[in-house]
Amino acid sequence: MAAQTVASTTESESGSASTVDLGPAAALSCRECGHRVPLGPVFACEECFGPLEIAYDYSSYDTEELRKRIESGPANIWRYAPLLPVPADVATKPNINPGWTQLVKADNLAAALGVDTGKLFIKDDSGNPTHSFKDRVVAQALEAARAFGFTTLSCSSTGNLAGAVGAAAARAGFRSCVFIPHDLEQGKVVMAAVYGGALVGIEGNYDDVNRFCSELIGDPAGEGWGFVNVNLRPYYAEGSKTLAYEICEQLGWQLPDQLVVPIASGSQLTKIDKGLQELIKLGLVEDKPYKIFGAQAEGCSPVSVAFKAGHDVVRPQKPNTIAKSLAIGNPADGPYVIDIARRTGGAVEDVTDEQVVEAIKLLARTEGIFAETAGGVTVGVAKKLIEDGVLDPTLTTVVLNTGDGLKTLDAVAGTGLTATIRPNLDSFHEAGLA
Ligand SMILES: *Cc1c(COP(=O)(O)O)cnc(C)c1O
Ligand SMILES: [Zn+2]
Repeated sequence: MAAQTVASTTESESGSASTVDLGPAAALSCRECGHRVPLGPVFACEECFGPLEIAYDYSSYDTEELRKRIESGPANIWRYAPLLPVPADVATKPNINPGWTQLVKADNLAAALGVDTGKLFIKDDSGNPTHSFKDRVVAQALEAARAFGFTTLSCSSTGNLAGAVGAAAARAGFRSCVFIPHDLEQGKVVMAAVYGGALVGIEGNYDDVNRFCSELIGDPAGEGWGFVNVNLRPYYAEGSKTLAYEICEQLGWQLPDQLVVPIASGSQLTKIDKGLQELIKLGLVEDKPYKIFGAQAEGCSPVSVAFKAGHDVVRPQKPNTIAKSLAIGNPADGPYVIDIARRTGGAVEDVTDEQVVEAIKLLARTEGIFAETAGGVTVGVAKKLIEDGVLDPTLTTVVLNTGDGLKTLDAVAGTGLTATIRPNLDSFHEAGLA
């Protein structure tokens, strides 16, 4: 321990925190040029402006010991603490402890879509503390905020992130101030506000909100603020690896053959790939090919459009879709998503808002899972890819549901009472309910 302290104190001359303990996280490394800097609240490479990500030292792990340690860990993401940028005693700290959500064997949906029995799974992240996948990433960012001495937790959000940040800040005793587009779904606004932090609507879309936050970070007013998806983004992003870990562990330490993942900024999809690659390198799963498919709504489909046109660059769009949690018109990780889809033999596809609603209802009707619009996007895209012969219906396929339908009730507003009757049997029979 003493030796490690000395080492990182020396590194701190380049301006980063001196003795941060973030477990196996060794440094930040540029995804473009490989330039390394000490762990700190920075997100862009000083050499080339490329995005920074966490580089780990996993060299001391023995595969079987690591597997046992994970399996005997808590039923949340902290079972994977040895693979995350968090201190070893993270499970004892006040955090929202998300994860270990259900991997549902979706045989009824499989039958409806023409997939072989036993081959289709829904990873249902609506079961997280604030009912979306965002709890995974915020839990990581909170640990980084603690390590760097921030006192305010903030973010730019398409809705779900605001709620997750509010809840995590409340639990851990941080102040929170989060920024959202002013026209979000009521369910998301209430969910973000109820935890008591400041919730600020910005007159503009998500990309405007994000630009504003970047400005605030550079301003003295933003001092002491940890923006989970901006200056803490390298830490935040690692939370998505836990989806990959859980899916493989829940499949009996096996890689799925195909995954269908939603795309907003593209961070989740790229880190799921990173997580799968780590499991292969660590020997926790057998190496075999897998395909990653990205899913967008047609009304915000910059990555899908670029992929289908064979482009490497993603041209920004002005979002117009009911899938607001995915409505990022200028996705930061778009080009990396395209690389991964190509490298793994997957694809990126989009569906219309109408297909999103149909898919929400299909999933609810067949599996008893009420997804938010993002889940309608992934299920809708899975259906389309099966119909187009792109997804193989004989292989193990995992479709992500990343949020809860109660937050996007408007999407299924036409759904309601089957009948209204008087409280007697005649009326019941008259309505044809027997
Ligand atoms: C944020 C979010 C995603 C994925 O976002 P990325 O920016 O691509 O990581 C997916 N589903 C829901 C419901 C979300 O809120
Ligand atoms: Zn660089």
